Order: sequence, then C-alpha cells, then structure tokens
Amino acid sequence: MLIDIHSHHFHIQPCRKELLNLQAASLADARASMLTYENNRFLSLGIHPWDASLWCLDDIPALNSFFSDHRVLLIGEIGLDKASSVSFDLQKNVFEAQVRMAEQIRKPVLLHVVRAMSEIFEIKKVHQSVPAWIIHGFRGKKQTTEQYITKGFYLSFGAIFNEGGLLACPIDRMFFETDINTEDIELVYERAAKVLDCSVFELESQVEKNFNSVFNK
Ligand SMILES: [Zn+2]
Repeated sequence: MLIDIHSHHFHIQPCRKELLNLQAASLADARASMLTYENNRFLSLGIHPWDASLWCLDDIPALNSFFSDHRVLLIGEIGLDKASSVSFDLQKNVFEAQVRMAEQIRKPVLLHVVRAMSEIFEIKKVHQSVPAWIIHGFRGKKQTTEQYITKGFYLSFGAIFNEGGLLACPIDRMFFETDINTEDIELVYERAAKVLDCSVFELESQVEKNFNSVFNK
C-alpha cells in the first residue's frame, strides 16, 4: 500500500493510504472539517504557523478533543516559518501549545519548518515524549538532512526534493507526500525510487515499515 503521509486533497485512488490534512483556522473550522471528513480514517490536524494570529492562546487547549480523535494520526501541519509575516513569538507560542498536547496524547507531529531549524531542535529537546517528529515537504541538501537525522527526525519528501538530500536520508526515516499537489503519490515514489536505485515496490514496503514503527501498528 502506497502511503501518502501528507495530503491536502482527496485523491480517491485504490491501494493508497492517504493522511488528509485539515488546517484549523479556528475551533469552529476544526469542528466543521472533522464532520466533513467523518468517514475518513486517516487525518492530520493542526494550526499552521501562518494561521497562528487567528488564534487566542487560551482557545488552543479546546482542540484536544479533536487531536484525541482516533482518526487524527498526526498533529500537523504545525511549525515555525521565519519567512511568514506572522509574529515569530506568536508562532512559537502556538506551536509549543500544540507540541505539549501532542506529547500528552502521545501522537507524532508533522512539521512545517522554514528557516527555523535551530528553534525546532531546541523545542524537540524539551518535549522528548512526542513519539515522532516528521519534517514535511523536505527539500534540504545532504548537510541539512544529516543534521535532522542526527537529531532523530523523520523526513517527508514531496514532488520537489533535493536528490543529495534524499540519498543522505536513511531508508528507515523517510516518508513521501503529495501535499498540495493533485498528482498521484505513485509519481513521487517513482521519482524517489529512481534516485535511490530501487524499485517502487521496495520503497513502498520500507515506508510501510516506517509507518508501522511510528504509529505502533
Ligand atoms: Zn501541506
């Protein structure tokens, strides 16, 4: 089964396990999205750093009932983005509030990180019970890959990735995603398999193993 760890679209393809991402712009929005996708078994939910200013910090704990829902496998995408106009301090507060919740309910986090690697490393150090940290849409080169891998992160590669970065990522730390693209996830696997000089089937089996180890299934 081809796993798409982060998707903003329903692709409606057989033999795919797709984690549909729901972005929470508000509590009402999170509630409505959860109802819309009532029958979807694989979801990720979180406040994107770009949406941080839409939230009052006191309201964030109320997301717990949605984060705890069995269909929500990942808390995300959450993170830090220095290229965004949203105040970085605010982003940090909103991010850490969600990381604390992920830690309490023992769910992995899916991260959007732009020019904030060292801050992410600091925050990860403090929240060691989060079961897994996955960087989404990873496009880093070899050196950045090595830095993340040394710190215990998983990396998720999408339609565009750096070949040296992919080659430097151990196979037991990688995922693939379509993100906002409407193309089939198989095309991402095909591109990666070519770079890694293996078959799509081998990659598919490895990512299934990675998925099972992250989600304890
Ligand atoms: Zn995304």
